[in-house]
Amino acid sequence: MTDLLFELSKPGCAAVRLPDCDVPERSIEELLPPGAIAAGPPPLPELAEGELVRHFVNLSTLNVSVDSHFYPLGSCTMKYNPKRNERLATLPGLLDLHPYQPELTLQGLLELLYRSQEMLAEIAGLPGVSLQPAAGAHGEMTALLVVAAYFRDLGEKRNVVLIPDGAHGTNPASAAVAGFRTLPVKSTKEGFVDLDDLAAKANEQTAVLMITNPNTLGMFENQITQITRMVHQAGGLVYLDGANMNAILGITRPGDFGADLMHYNPHKTFGSPHGGGGPGAGPIAVAERLAPYLPAPIVVKHGDGYRLDYDRPKSIGRVRSFFGNTGVLVRMFCYILTHGSEGLRRVADGAVLNANYLLAKLKHIVPVPQGERCMHEFVASAAKLKTEKDVSAMDIAKRLLDYGFHAPTVYFPLIVREALMIEPTETESKATLDAFAEVIFRITGEAPDLLHDAPHSTPISRPDEVQAARNPILRWSPP
Ligand SMILES: *Cc1c(COP(=O)(O)O)cnc(C)c1O
Repeated sequence: MTDLLFELSKPGCAAVRLPDCDVPERSIEELLPPGAIAAGPPPLPELAEGELVRHFVNLSTLNVSVDSHFYPLGSCTMKYNPKRNERLATLPGLLDLHPYQPELTLQGLLELLYRSQEMLAEIAGLPGVSLQPAAGAHGEMTALLVVAAYFRDLGEKRNVVLIPDGAHGTNPASAAVAGFRTLPVKSTKEGFVDLDDLAAKANEQTAVLMITNPNTLGMFENQITQITRMVHQAGGLVYLDGANMNAILGITRPGDFGADLMHYNPHKTFGSPHGGGGPGAGPIAVAERLAPYLPAPIVVKHGDGYRLDYDRPKSIGRVRSFFGNTGVLVRMFCYILTHGSEGLRRVADGAVLNANYLLAKLKHIVPVPQGERCMHEFVASAAKLKTEKDVSAMDIAKRLLDYGFHAPTVYFPLIVREALMIEPTETESKATLDAFAEVIFRITGEAPDLLHDAPHSTPISRPDEVQAARNPILRWSPP
């Protein structure tokens, strides 16, 4: 690692030698279409630099982020994003690249991507990897297109995707976008896939079961090998939604428990930033027999160097321009190499330990219907508080902001009433977890009226959330 990164840190290094290119001699006015050049400067307010700096610094402090607050947003794995990886991703040997440079001048980056493919294959226990998808949901869709191409090739008409009812909403959405019909599979009251319901639904129409393991209740499917066997016996494939890989890194591999395909969320599992709805990445890993269908190109080793392999006749084609979301992939590469295989296992151990510690402290305050024990997260239910005191999961979530904590995920998964889905991650200290538990305890004792109007300390309190998401007001106006 160090050699490669050292090489990439030198401007104009051999790994990224820039080619000679012809710079057009015409002026910019000639090159741009008429009307594309502004007639004059835009009408901006006259401000002193100090005022401008204060404006933006003050705005930046209104944000709640992993860098400023404990952020137990279940399912999202909001763990610390190492600042070292930010620096490494901006090394000039990476930052100054142009995606249209010839392959021979991109060898450093191609090596990094090739080795990322190899590492993701190893962690998944699945040998074929595509780094192209730009988010977990995009990885789901890409993998489902691979599944569709595979069955088309076999001449099998399988058009149903089975999805447990605790699944993330992106699962059915991706299946629909990829042209499949979806069929929900029930969960038992303990929160696991209902094997009887699965047996009744897995048949010659089944293309794939999309399963999240550990599931969205934060529990490892204790019958996972039985589940994957049932789907395989029906002739279908098993897709693992890898959003919860943080809990099982280095402990078990999806390929070993029967998954045929999966996606990773580097912004959850490998500590790259979520970035406010993007950019992310969603690399997928697939079994050998599915690899020919992966998006092209794939980085391959070629003699002493690396090249992009476009000669993949069964490929579903491109799903993303250039090499995927390279900046995110670089951070992922650095994260994995920094920890090493032993370290990745410690990540998972730490995530599970922290979640169980918090579960043990909280379950006496807000009941956790499924789960004496959990993996990396757990789902508490405010249903009793709602009936007895008219305090909802939303009220608790909003009030937490007043105490300096980001809220947990609320009202997901749908199978738990008044759900509060809490994921502390491995990067939090015992002191932070204790403080959070203390505040939850305090909030549940507060007067319902105080909670209904919370938060009281933020610039806005309870916006119309649907309107705010659909029609955001993005223009700043003076107060
Ligand atoms: C986050 C998440 C996804 C979607 O991933 P994105 O990277 O946000 O597109 C899918 N499934 C589960 C369980 C998730 O938590």
